[in-house]
Amino acid sequence: MKAIIFKGPGKFAYEDRPEPKIQNDDDVLIQVLGVGICGSDLHALMDPPLHPAKPDIIFGHEFCGRVVETGRGVDGLRPGDKVVVDPHPPCGSCNNCRSDRPEMCSTLYCQQGTPWFEHGEIRGLFRDGGLAGYACIPAHSAYKVSQDTPVPLMTLAEPLSCVGYAIEKLDIQVGESVCILGAGPMGLLFAAMAKANGAAKVIVSEPHEYRREKALCCGATQVVDPLSENLKEVCLDATEGLGVDHCIEAVGQLLPVAIDVIRPNGKVLMFGHDETAMPQIRLAEIVRKEANIMGGFLGKYYFEKTARIIESGILPLEEIVSHTLPMSEYQKGLDLLRAGKALKVVIYPEN
Ligand SMILES: [Zn+2]
Ligand SMILES: [Zn+2]
Repeated sequence: MKAIIFKGPGKFAYEDRPEPKIQNDDDVLIQVLGVGICGSDLHALMDPPLHPAKPDIIFGHEFCGRVVETGRGVDGLRPGDKVVVDPHPPCGSCNNCRSDRPEMCSTLYCQQGTPWFEHGEIRGLFRDGGLAGYACIPAHSAYKVSQDTPVPLMTLAEPLSCVGYAIEKLDIQVGESVCILGAGPMGLLFAAMAKANGAAKVIVSEPHEYRREKALCCGATQVVDPLSENLKEVCLDATEGLGVDHCIEAVGQLLPVAIDVIRPNGKVLMFGHDETAMPQIRLAEIVRKEANIMGGFLGKYYFEKTARIIESGILPLEEIVSHTLPMSEYQKGLDLLRAGKALKVVIYPEN
């Protein structure tokens, strides 16, 4: 089968690989139907890289497929089923997993004192992932969706599982106001989820016009160009001078802005991920406002909900997939993303 192989910082190859076989009784063999290109893939493909990945593995962690064969111990999945795949299921036996923090599972990342992701198990970054004709995965990482679920939307499962769990932390109440910084795929997923959670005002700040327009299709009630408008004034005007109830930072560098636009005792969700960002923060602002600042990263027990959200069609996810390309045009997908001309690019494997 054809596969995209990560070759080291800045390099990938389009190669032939043997088709995987069922190894364990709880394995499922899937035919890969689609794979999303993620920001972390772009970061791993930079030299020097901004995200680690293991050389010679099959790349791509945002994948979905159709079950072809199941191991003897698998019930609940049958050949023909369409599934979305959790590329980082928790191990269940580390301290974090056994202390109600499976999203912090030490097989995934976050080991204190060791380099980030040194012992990572994430498929598509540290072991074989989805950019290939077939993938062999444990059954507990596959979540069935209805047969009529469109493949491009299924590929959004992994990012949506992170966004869905993160936004639950804000506990948005019907009628509240939310400001979202950044309208990349993650910011757009947040806009759609905020709206679905009942937010009356969803103000999205984004410098690119194309992305601002997309935000309006994804649930934003108002969009702001932060380069030509004063975001804080917009947020104050929209909330009778109070500030927004929630701000979601989906850029990775703008925590001071997020703290600035919330109301007293408001909440900030820091989600954008930039390992190099070290902004200056006026700490007294956090004290005076009694601001609640939370981080969000991977999803916690959110894949089942994700599968139901995607198959239900309640979110305008089709707005977020801007391009679909065959695997032989993977480079073109990278180029589109690097040029800022795409949102989510979905790759279809070829055999
Ligand atoms: Zn991703
Ligand atoms: Zn664990």
